[in-house]
Amino acid sequence: MKWKLIVGTEALDFIRYRHLSIRTERSRAVLKVQSEIMSSIRRFFGKQKFTEVKPAIIGPATDPDVRGAEAASIDFYGVKYLLTTSMILYKQMLISSLDKIYIFSPCIRLEKKRTDRHLAEFLQVDVEAAHRSCDEIMKVAESLLAVAVSDALKHCREELQLLGRKLKVPKTPFKKLTFKEAIKVAMDLGFDFDHTSELPFEAEKAVSMQFKRPFFIVGYPLDSRGFYYKENHEKPGELIDFDLIFPQGFGEAVSGGEREHKHAIVMRKFKDRRMDPGRYKWYFDMLKIGIPPSAGFGIGLERLTRYICGLETIWEATPFPKVPGVHSP
Ligand code: AMP
Ligand code: MG
Repeated sequence: MKWKLIVGTEALDFIRYRHLSIRTERSRAVLKVQSEIMSSIRRFFGKQKFTEVKPAIIGPATDPDVRGAEAASIDFYGVKYLLTTSMILYKQMLISSLDKIYIFSPCIRLEKKRTDRHLAEFLQVDVEAAHRSCDEIMKVAESLLAVAVSDALKHCREELQLLGRKLKVPKTPFKKLTFKEAIKVAMDLGFDFDHTSELPFEAEKAVSMQFKRPFFIVGYPLDSRGFYYKENHEKPGELIDFDLIFPQGFGEAVSGGEREHKHAIVMRKFKDRRMDPGRYKWYFDMLKIGIPPSAGFGIGLERLTRYICGLETIWEATPFPKVPGVHSP
């Protein structure tokens, strides 16, 4: 597989010799902060009466819209099954049974780029709530981030000091930029790109650099994201969706929005995108029977850890890093 090198090679020994680097004080501090973040997330959703559900690791289909990354596969008794890239399809299944759910979901994405914020294996905290709007779920996302920062500051003072991280609890509500406003910020910084996709990695990083606090970008273009995002009929060509962006160049933290749940519309999107519905039999069966409308998001645990700890790359923000193109324990 081909991948593009973005981050320098000097830190790679840290990953290749993880059985040694894990013994350092620094690694110990990061893992302790990560443990607190996981506890904090569970307390947060417990208080808000979300039900935690176990993840699916493999299935006949997984989220195909992972921006160029490939899904890994296994032979499941004669049928090709895919390793989860995201739980979106299963989340839509779950909210036909439970009202508000979250999942600590391991994801495998064979990313084609090695950057400071992409792993090939990461843990996504995947959240979904039936009959909720994009605005409502954005409030959940910003409160989750604020609470995780606050708990880490409260319970991991020594670790954050050792890591040299100075951080404040971000005040909610977070600022909202429209996608068009974000494009303007990026263009004013000298970036030129196609406006029908999400912001390119480097442009988004530069935009994030302009901010001191986390912020939202809302209303991405129709074809820039997965087929399961809902179009905004008041603003055709735009989705009812958002990204939450960390400040200081840390970049994307969360993607989410309202979901398309109507069989005919999803089928039409498959046709327009020349996608084969073959793998998705159970999903289309389910849409035909009917599921509630919902909104949700996913936040990468390692990106959140990286931000809270102030780490140069995401590689340090996980016990056993799997970095594109690097063979490691
Ligand atoms: P997505 O819906 O594809 O944007 O994924 C949801 C969230 O998962 C992102 O906002 C990130 O926090 C996290 N994420 C996605 N891909 C990766 C990756 N390759 N490495 C680490 N975290 C990721
Ligand atoms: Mg995203």
